[in-house]
Amino acid sequence: MTEEILIKPWLCTGCCTCSLVCSMISRGEFRPSLAHIRVTKKDFEGIFDITISSTCRGCTMCARSCPSGALKVIEIS
Ligand code: SF4
Ligand code: SF4
Repeated sequence: MTEEILIKPWLCTGCCTCSLVCSMISRGEFRPSLAHIRVTKKDFEGIFDITISSTCRGCTMCARSCPSGALKVIEIS
């Protein structure tokens, strides 16, 4: 069984909890610019774009800390 992160950008509020958590776990600092996950506001569409970089270690802590359900951990058999 492996775990993956399902992204539902339309539920994102732009709180940046995910990138703050990732940067703290990965680099020891609360700094979204150091995170493996990026949240960017798309001004015209009024939604947020969420991207996870190839350097992600797959710990899933970003998804587990997302308060809106925009990131969810799913199990794949
Ligand atoms: S799963 Fe990837 S992006 Fe999410 S907290 Fe872990 S390292 Fe960061
Ligand atoms: S994905 Fe979740 S934790 Fe990250 S900014 Fe959006 S609502 Fe916040």
